[in-house]
Amino acid sequence: TPIKEITEGSATISTSGAVFYNPVQEFNRDLSIAVISTFVNDYKEELKAAKGQQTGVENNKITILEALSATGLRSIRYAKEIPGVERVIANDISTKAVEDIKQNVVKNNVDQIVSVSHSDASMLMYQHRKSDQFEVIDLDPYGCPSHFLDSSVQAVKEGGLLLITATDMAVLAGNSPETCYSKYGAISIRIKSCHEMAVRILLQCIESHANRYGRYIVPLLSLSADFYIRVFVRVFSGAKKCKFSATKLSHVYHCTGCDSFTLHPLIIAKTDKNHHKFGIPSGPPVSKNCEECKHPHHIGGPIWSAPIHSHEFVKKLLDTVPDSLKTYKRIEGVLSVILEELIDQPLYYTLDRLSGTLHVEMPSMMVLRSALLNAGYMVSFTHMNKTSIKTDAPKKVVWDIMRCW
Ligand code: SAM
Repeated sequence: TPIKEITEGSATISTSGAVFYNPVQEFNRDLSIAVISTFVNDYKEELKAAKGQQTGVENNKITILEALSATGLRSIRYAKEIPGVERVIANDISTKAVEDIKQNVVKNNVDQIVSVSHSDASMLMYQHRKSDQFEVIDLDPYGCPSHFLDSSVQAVKEGGLLLITATDMAVLAGNSPETCYSKYGAISIRIKSCHEMAVRILLQCIESHANRYGRYIVPLLSLSADFYIRVFVRVFSGAKKCKFSATKLSHVYHCTGCDSFTLHPLIIAKTDKNHHKFGIPSGPPVSKNCEECKHPHHIGGPIWSAPIHSHEFVKKLLDTVPDSLKTYKRIEGVLSVILEELIDQPLYYTLDRLSGTLHVEMPSMMVLRSALLNAGYMVSFTHMNKTSIKTDAPKKVVWDIMRCW
């Protein structure tokens, strides 16, 4: 096969085409560079502050593990484009991929920073679970990432960053709920807000792996783009905090007729004078058939029902994304919408489904948003679907507005 030369960002790589390379993922790689840069900045500041308070805090060298590296393009870009990164490990299980990575590392003069590794990603991460953990681990597999989660949640440093892609959208979007359960430990359902449901299934899966080791996650940014989802989460340790994990999960009662949804938490926390009590909610939260259209409900989940982004982080990111990135405009657009998303309102309504159910003409986004705002509720777009809304309005209010607009 003829050798192809590809330039992306500050890297120029060669590949025979036998190793995975997808130009569409440039947005994913650009965004990851921006996220890791912002994270590294924050992380170094946190370490510096901790060092001031206690002795023996480790030095703040940053190592990134790209566990599934293919051509090495991403690792080379991380080494060249992220300030403050001392070491990147580009790993792949395929011999052909490792040959490509080795050549590309030399070609780009980053052999002082990028080391090449030829291992099974899980084995490599298990070797780093007790010591020599990584500040950043990037998992960008074919399809489902779940079999790399057990090792990655252990191999990342305290407060470190995991970047995880999933491309098996059919499974996550409700086409085979039983497969979704076996891979992610949650039932996916065919709901119009399936992209957000997919993100939330992945987050609950990561947290459940972390919990086994007394760890928990804090999502910085979660997105749906093109044919995949990608989440950026920090991992921390703390047995007490892990007790709250079940409070961040809900089942989704989804009406098969009108696409309405109701969330039902697994556990409720009642905090009383700094004393935490946990209670199992009574249920179910809805009657067997939907009050609006009388169709039966399906029950999906559990999904992550806590925030999927950190507003503080996204704001900082938006202020610091390098405008030299080729997909800068797209990143800026997506992050601006994300910054406005209602953080405490999981899932969303799509306009076509709302109007299709009632057989009424589709209102403009403006009309629906104004009606909800005038009725005293919050409303936002979501980056996951252009013609949809998030709102804290009760279902009945949304349907009443749709009937009378
Ligand atoms: N991150 C790359 C990029 O941005 O261009 C693309 C990675 S590609 C989607 C997935 C890679 O994972 C393939 O090169 C494949 O050889 C590798 N892979 C699959 N299973 C693996 C395993 N168990 N350990 C390490 N690498 C693996």
